[in-house]
Amino acid sequence: MKALVTGGAGFIGSHLCDHLVAHGHSVVALDDLSTGRESNLEQLTGNPSFELVKGSILDKSLVDDVVAECDTVFHLAAAVGVHTIVDKPLESLHINLQGTENVVESAARRRARFMVASTSEVYGKNDADGLSEDADRVLGSPLKSRWSYAAAKGLDELVAYIYGEESGLPCVITRFFNIVGPRQTGRYGMVVPRFVSQAMAGEPITVYGTGDQRRCFGSVFDVVPAVVKLIDTPAAYNRAVNLGGKEEVSIRGLADRVIELTGSPSTVTYVPYEEAYGEGYEDMQRRMPDTSLAQGLIGYEPQRRLNDIIASIIDHDRTGGPSRQEAVAR
Ligand code: UDP
Repeated sequence: MKALVTGGAGFIGSHLCDHLVAHGHSVVALDDLSTGRESNLEQLTGNPSFELVKGSILDKSLVDDVVAECDTVFHLAAAVGVHTIVDKPLESLHINLQGTENVVESAARRRARFMVASTSEVYGKNDADGLSEDADRVLGSPLKSRWSYAAAKGLDELVAYIYGEESGLPCVITRFFNIVGPRQTGRYGMVVPRFVSQAMAGEPITVYGTGDQRRCFGSVFDVVPAVVKLIDTPAAYNRAVNLGGKEEVSIRGLADRVIELTGSPSTVTYVPYEEAYGEGYEDMQRRMPDTSLAQGLIGYEPQRRLNDIIASIIDHDRTGGPSRQEAVAR
C-alpha cells in the first residue's frame, strides 16, 4: 500500500510508520510537529519508502496533495493530552474538528481507504465493566472544556461514518484505550510516561485525586499491527472497534509499580484534581475495554503485560527517550 499517516511523528503514528515500512509499504507522514517529534522518525530518515511532510491538517490544499499520492489514509493527527485540551480548548477543537473533516473529505474524493483514531474518551463517564462499542456515551456539560476532546472525537467518528455511508468511503474507526509505550511523552498528560519521567528524576510521583481510579493500559506494539489488519478487513468498515489491553490497574498501583521497576527513591504525592487540571475537572473512575469485536474481526489478542510495557518505556527513556529529552530541556 501507499499510506499516508497523519500525525506520523507522534507516538502511535511513528510506530505505525515503522510497522508499515517494515512490511514493505510506502509511507508519507504528515505532521506539524506541534506535539510530534522528528526524532521519533530518525530511524526512517533516508529510507526510500518513507517521506516526512511537515505541515498541518488544517492546510486543505496540502492535505489534498498528500492524500492524492496515497491509497490508504491513517488519520492520527489530533490535539491530544488532557493538559493540551484544557489549556488550549479552542485550538484543540479546531484541529480535531476541521482537521479531521479536511482529511476525510480528501480521502473520500481520492477513494482511499480511511482509518480514524478515536478514543475511549467517547464513552465519557460510563465506567461499565468492559465497555463494548455500542455502550452509551455519558458526557459531562458541553461547557466544560474537559469534555471537548470527547465531544470532538465523537463528531470525528460521525463525520467518517457519514462519509462511509454516503460516499462508500471504506473507513475504520479505532477507539484506543490508554495506549502506551516508548516515545510517548508525559508533557501533555499521559500518566505512564509522566510517572516514569518523575521516577527517573527522583521527583515525587503525582497521583491525581485518590489514585483509586482505574485504567487498563494497552501496548502500542499490540495495537499498531491490529490497525493495519483492520484496514485490510472489509467486515470492519464503517464501524468503531475498541483496541486496548486486558490488565486493569489503579493509578496508585501504577505509581507503586513504576517506583519498583525504576528502583527510584521517589515517593508518591496526592494532588487534588483542581490543582492538576483546574476547577470542576471530572475524571473517569474506570475505563475497561471489551475487545471481543476486534478479536472476532482480526483475532486481536493483546500479548504484552503491563510490567513489560513499563519496563520497555524505562529502557527507552534511559537511552535518550522523551523523559531524558525533557529533563535536558528543563
Ligand atoms: N494522572 C495522575 N497523575 C498524572 C497524570 C495523570 O494521577 O501526573 C491520572 C489521571 O487523572 C487519570 C489517569 O491518571 O485518572 C490516566 O490519565 P491519562 O491522562 O494518562 O489518560 P486518561 O485516562 O485521563 O485519558
